[in-house]
Parts: sequence; structure tokens; C-alpha cells
Amino acid sequence: MRDDVLETDYLIAGAGAMGMAFADTLVSETKADMIMVDRHAKPGGHWNVAYPFVRLHQPSAFFGVASRELSRFEKDQVGMNKGLYDLASGPEVNAYFDDVMQQTLLPSGRVRYFPMSEYRGDGVFKSITNGRETTVKYKKFVDATRLTVDVPAEHTPAFTIADGVKFMPLNNLPNLKEAPRAFVVIGSGKTGMDACLWLLETGVEPDAIRWIMPRDSWMLPREFAQPAPEFFASTFGNQANQFEAIAGAADLDDMYARLEAAGCVVRFDETIKPTMFHAATISQAELQALRRIKNVVRMGRVTALERDCIFLEDGEIETAPDILHIDCSASLSRTMKTMEPKPVFDGNIITPQTVRSFMPVFSGSMIAYVDAHYTDEEEKNKLCSVVPLPNTAEDFVHMTLAAMMNQFTWSQDDTLRRWIRENRLDGFSKLTHGVDRDDQEKMAILMRLRDNAPKAVGKLMELASAL
Ligand SMILES: Cc1cc2nc3c(=O)[nH]c(=O)nc-3n(C[C@H](O)[C@H](O)[C@H](O)COP(=O)(O)OP(=O)(O)OC[C@H]3O[C@@H](n4cnc5c(N)ncnc54)[C@H](O)[C@@H]3O)c2cc1C
Repeated sequence: MRDDVLETDYLIAGAGAMGMAFADTLVSETKADMIMVDRHAKPGGHWNVAYPFVRLHQPSAFFGVASRELSRFEKDQVGMNKGLYDLASGPEVNAYFDDVMQQTLLPSGRVRYFPMSEYRGDGVFKSITNGRETTVKYKKFVDATRLTVDVPAEHTPAFTIADGVKFMPLNNLPNLKEAPRAFVVIGSGKTGMDACLWLLETGVEPDAIRWIMPRDSWMLPREFAQPAPEFFASTFGNQANQFEAIAGAADLDDMYARLEAAGCVVRFDETIKPTMFHAATISQAELQALRRIKNVVRMGRVTALERDCIFLEDGEIETAPDILHIDCSASLSRTMKTMEPKPVFDGNIITPQTVRSFMPVFSGSMIAYVDAHYTDEEEKNKLCSVVPLPNTAEDFVHMTLAAMMNQFTWSQDDTLRRWIRENRLDGFSKLTHGVDRDDQEKMAILMRLRDNAPKAVGKLMELASAL
């Protein structure tokens, strides 16, 4: 088959949230030409195949691309996010990324988009519909596939499933035609929590849910990450509490004890020490609802699902053919193990990764900005030092330390600081910048932040070297 040959400044593989945030900022900040390639039919990456009842777990105000608002800036009036700012649903996120592509990127005349195309490396991609290969001659290659999310609808579970077992990814739950006798939710990450919450919201009794929880996790209260001045005291007060808790910690366990006592982290069961931290963000109402589920199985991961028995790493439990098993076992942590640490900028290859904790899209936008305005590779990598994705409870230390170091580096560069403040994906700097110096309550919080940040960094270094 004939090879097409195209030329561009930036070849971007992956049109998920990271690739889109990167391309959008490059359109605003440069005159560069771009080609975007993705195997999905629409932009938005994993959101194309997310479960129907998915929502963001952080406010919409912090998600999407820099040039287009996603949030309605309305607080939920009902439901488990009541009183907190809106969380876009999956369909809203998909429609949003489609709008970004159709209304911003393509009309710029500088972006060519190839959906349904598999990137094969070395500038070559192949159309999934017509089978044609295209070679792209590029100045820079952007690998926005690195954080590709492993989702239940697409992954192969890491356990065997015998014939006759009732089993489905949580995506299929809304297609149920009749109630099974009971449910087994496999997986305790955010997806597992969402499956449990959905079942409870649809009226399933907590006792009809058995929750397989290989690891307990530390979670972040959503009440403390809100994008409006009325939440200033809770959002920044929480940040100050966090720095104080870290600064005073004797060791890792003591750090978590202090963080929990200050309300900065929560856990499902206060008698069990969590070993996982994926930065799942949860409201108090959601946490209380989940705690109604008492039938929790802590025997490690599932190894095999038989008709009458579930085999786990540390034991086995009974099941039955009229019990529905829900797969929530997909997780980025399974793919993370294969990821070698990588600088964001390496010659003409750019690998967008998180440079601020919990903020992948801000990171994608920031990396594009740095590429557009800085030339020295060492400086660029210093500004975009990778903040490692957390998996275990220990990872909180490395992640928070790297994020605080980046924050300090950025604060030394006036132009960059101003750009960050104006970027809608940042959300927080605007709030602190606008504080009236006579507002004693807010100034007191900012002082606590300023005083405790260096102490927290010192302690995190100490903890990190002991891990
Ligand atoms: C349930 C859930 C809720 C979330 N909520 C939030 C939130 O509230 N706030 C927040 O900031 N983040 C949230 N996230 C994270 C965020 O949505 C993204 O997952 C994260 O930004 C990573 O996006 P990505 O673009 O790197 O990955 P993906 O979305 O996986 O995109 C990567 C893209 O690359 C494509 N690709 C990979 N390899 C190839 C190839 N060889 N050829 C062609 N295409 C390829 C994939 O098909 C995919 O479209 C959430 C994630 C999940 C799963």
C-alpha cells in the first residue's frame, strides 16, 4: 500500500487529556504546525470508553484545556457532591474535548487530526479504517501516550474467569435487566468506589455488596480543593495544615496520623493502615456511604474466578452463579511498573508527564508553554521536573517533595508565575494573588503556608532518604 508523507513541527501521539492540553497551549503560544494521532474515534482518550456513570473526581474548574472553560461554576444542590462545585460527567467531558478539537484546534488551521490511527513509532501511523500508512517528518515528537489509562472496558483482567461466572466490567452495570442475588466488586481504587456508590445510589442494600479490597487507600477530601474564594479558608487552610503536619512528623506513620488528625487525608476504615495512595478525591457524603458496606474482603488480589469460589492471593471465599462479579481491577499502577523514569525534554522528544501533583492537564499545558518559551534543555527539564505518580502510601512523600520543589522553582520566574496565575487550569494562584492585605484571616493562613513550606520540604527530604 502507498505511503503518504506529511511534514509538521510537532507530531503528537495521543489525543487524550494530556495531548489536548499540550496542543491547546501550543496553539495559543506559538505559530507551530501540529499533527495529532490517536486510535480512538474522538479526542479525550480514556473518557471515550469510561463507564456511563463516571464523573471527574476533582472540580471541573481544574480540568480540560487552558483556553476553554469546562466548569459551570455551580455547586451541586443534590447528591453526594452537594454543596461542592460541579464535577463534569463522562459525556460532558467527551463533548468538551470534541468542542476543543472542532472549535479551537482544527479552526486554528495549524492542527491536523488523525483519529482511528495507530501510532507505530518512528513517525509512522496506520489508519485503523483504511489500513493506509502515513509517515510524518517532524521537528519534535510528543509522546502523549505515556500515561495511557488502563480501563475496565478495554483491559484483560489479571485472573482467570471460568465459564458460567456472572462477570462484567462496571461499564455494563446500567444494562442490567434483572437483579442478581448479590454483587462482588473486584477492586478498591476509584473505579471500585464508583461502582459501590452507584450500586448504593440505585438502592442496593449495603449487605448485598461484597467488596474485594486488595489494598486500603488514603484519600483526599474533595471539600479542600474547591475553586472559589468562599472556600479560601478550607482550601488553603488545609494546605497549611498539611505543611504543618508534615513538618512535625517523626516518621511516615506519624505523618499520616498527623495528616489524618488535621483532616487532610481520610480512609475507609480507621482501624486499618492503608498501603495505597492514588490521590482518589472523595466527598464526606461518599465516604460515609461507602462505610455502610461491611462485607469487605482483604485477602489480596483475585487470582481466579470459579463458579462457586473466588481464589485470592491469601485465601478463598465462596461465590455462586447468581452473584454478579464486577470488574474494577484496571489500574494505572499495573502499567506504572513498566515505566522507566524519563525526562520531559530529551532532544526532539517531549514526554508530557505530571509536573504538579493531581494536575495532569495543568502539567500538559505547562510543558507546552515551557517548550514554546525556553530553549535550554537543562532549564526546561528543571522547570518541568517530573512529579512521580503515586501508587503506595510512601509515594506521597516523593510526590509532595517533587511538587513543592517545582512550585519553588516556578516562583523564581516572574513571567512564568504570571502565566501560571492566568492559566484557568491552575485555579489556586488567582485566589491567593487577589487577597486583600487587610484581610487578617486570609493573611494568617498565607503566613502559615509561607512559614511551614520550607520546614515541610526539609522533613520530606528526611523521610524520603529513610524510605
Ligand atoms: C475515572 C477517572 C476520573 C478522573 N478524574 C480526573 C479529575 O477529576 N481530574 C483530573 O485532573 N484528572 C482526572 N483523571 C485523569 C485524567 O482524566 C487522565 O486520565 C490523565 O490526564 C491522563 O490522560 P492521558 O491523555 O495521558 O491518557 P489517556 O486518556 O489514556 O489518553 C492517551 C491516548 O493515547 C492513545 N494512544 C496510546 N497509544 C497509542 C498509539 N500507539 N497510537 C495511537 N493512539 C495511542 C490512547 O488511545 C488514548 O486516547 C481521571 C481518570 C479516571 C480514569
